[in-house]
Amino acid sequence: MASRSQEPDDTTTRWLFSGQLGPLFDDGGRILLIEAKSLIAGRPIHRAKAHLLLSALRHRARELGDRCEYHRVDDYDEALIATGGLHDRSDLEVVDPPSWAARRFVRSTGARVLESRGFVTSEAVFREWADARAGKRLLLDDFYRTVRERTGLLMEGDQPAGGRWNYDHDNRAAPPKGAVTLGLPEPWWPTEDDIDDEVRRDLDAWQADGSVQLVGDDGPRRFAVTAAEAEAALDDFIDVRLGDFGPFEDATLTGDWTMAHSLLSAPLNLGLLDPMAVVERVAGEHTRGTAPLASVEGFVRQITGWRDWVWHLYWYLGEDYAVTRNALDATTPLPEAFWQLAPDAIEENCLHHAVDGVRRHGWAHHIQRLMVLGNWALQRGYDPAELNRWFIDMFVDGTPWVMPANVVGMSQHADGGIVATKPYASGGAYINRMTDFCGGCRFTPSKRLGPDACPYTAGYWAFLDRNEGRLAGNHRMAQPLAGLRGLADREAVVAQERERQSF
Ligand SMILES: Cc1cc2nc3c(=O)[nH]c(=O)nc-3n(C[C@H](O)[C@H](O)[C@H](O)COP(=O)(O)OP(=O)(O)OC[C@H]3O[C@@H](n4cnc5c(N)ncnc54)[C@H](O)[C@@H]3O)c2cc1C
Ligand code: SF4
Repeated sequence: MASRSQEPDDTTTRWLFSGQLGPLFDDGGRILLIEAKSLIAGRPIHRAKAHLLLSALRHRARELGDRCEYHRVDDYDEALIATGGLHDRSDLEVVDPPSWAARRFVRSTGARVLESRGFVTSEAVFREWADARAGKRLLLDDFYRTVRERTGLLMEGDQPAGGRWNYDHDNRAAPPKGAVTLGLPEPWWPTEDDIDDEVRRDLDAWQADGSVQLVGDDGPRRFAVTAAEAEAALDDFIDVRLGDFGPFEDATLTGDWTMAHSLLSAPLNLGLLDPMAVVERVAGEHTRGTAPLASVEGFVRQITGWRDWVWHLYWYLGEDYAVTRNALDATTPLPEAFWQLAPDAIEENCLHHAVDGVRRHGWAHHIQRLMVLGNWALQRGYDPAELNRWFIDMFVDGTPWVMPANVVGMSQHADGGIVATKPYASGGAYINRMTDFCGGCRFTPSKRLGPDACPYTAGYWAFLDRNEGRLAGNHRMAQPLAGLRGLADREAVVAQERERQSF
């Protein structure tokens, strides 16, 4: 059991992990940081992600100065020796780290374990909430409402601000017609420094000697690696983009890779920002009347609802969840175009741009992750555990805890409906409504048969055909399955998609 209290003293060293690099995890006193190359070795990983991780660790070490004991090692076996024997040190304490593997490891060393931090709701409070539901389905909406009531965020007395808990319906605008971008100024970008130069040199050398396999572009660093940078990114989001965040949350434009999103997931997941402080600031914009409630509520729900929810589900659903769940028997291996982030052969304009965006930035916004990349993988039956690994390694904000509920649960329905009540499968009509991709595509979103049939539209029906038996008991799928049974050209569409030569 992790303990709550922590008073720094001369006999204690706080051992921190890569998701714990901000002030929230530092109570003063000595700090141990271990930079293990194994974190980024042994598999293809996005260069921007490897860069961000190393840059954040090294920046933190520099900030801490003499307080920090920093070790660069190949793996944790080496760390055991370099640190003077992690198992033999009686001075070590850790804030419970954010993965099953790390928790096992720190416990094997005998280090004192403190309660985890970095989320709005503690693990103990979530457990209490979940236990009180004794066997009933756990729903995000219920959890989110409880968090609002408990924290007082966006509350007017015991009522939600504006009279509604959720303004999702106001946050589904299509992109402005004919627009190339939302017309917002460039987001705040960090300025690289000598630490970034050193990281770049190290990555080049390791790539050349084959000890790491980096994919994706080596662009300028786009995400914060220090608490000060993260605060600057947050200020910029609140001042410039928060107002447009809500309405255009689900929209995509080819010429605008960030839209009005906050780009804060990477610094949040590195532990650079306190999420409660972030949502308090954003909620304050509503109180002051400087941002619309729908945008503010949408953002507060993403952090206090979704982000906390997937964190707690990671522990609640167990370590095996990510690798064993496969309710739709999906076994197709991921194509090389995904592993190498090589979009050239991808003809579907929406998918081409999504993979290309990941290649360039190691980031894509939510709808591209869910309705373009995830939807494609679901329709084509990609192996959910492999897809989970891909998302973790190709995205700058990917972590073991954030992915299972998002990928295995929400996006791939591989848990049979624990996280989402129905599969997030949709045809080209949705993509056509919410993006400008279809206009520049050689396929036609409304067509399901023929040389210009949209692979998402036809793929949607082929997905339903393949999973008809598995989804038959799901009442939310009754209408789509009835539609499938009424398709005059069902067999031809299914045969066409079976033969489709994808990249
Ligand atoms: C298939 C799939 C993969 C995803 N992979 C990741 C990932 O690797 N890391 C990650 O942090 N999020 C992930 N998400 C959630 C979400 O897409 C990203 O958090 C968001 O796109 C990051 O961009 P942003 O910071 O601009 O977010 P914004 O759109 O500005 O949202 C604000 C914040 O809300 C939080 N948030 C919103 N939705 C979620 C969610 N579903 N789960 C967790 N946090 C959420 C994030 O911290 C984010 O920074 C994934 C979602 C899907 C469907
Ligand atoms: S037509 Fe289909 S494949 Fe092409 S961009 Fe639209 S949804 Fe994507």
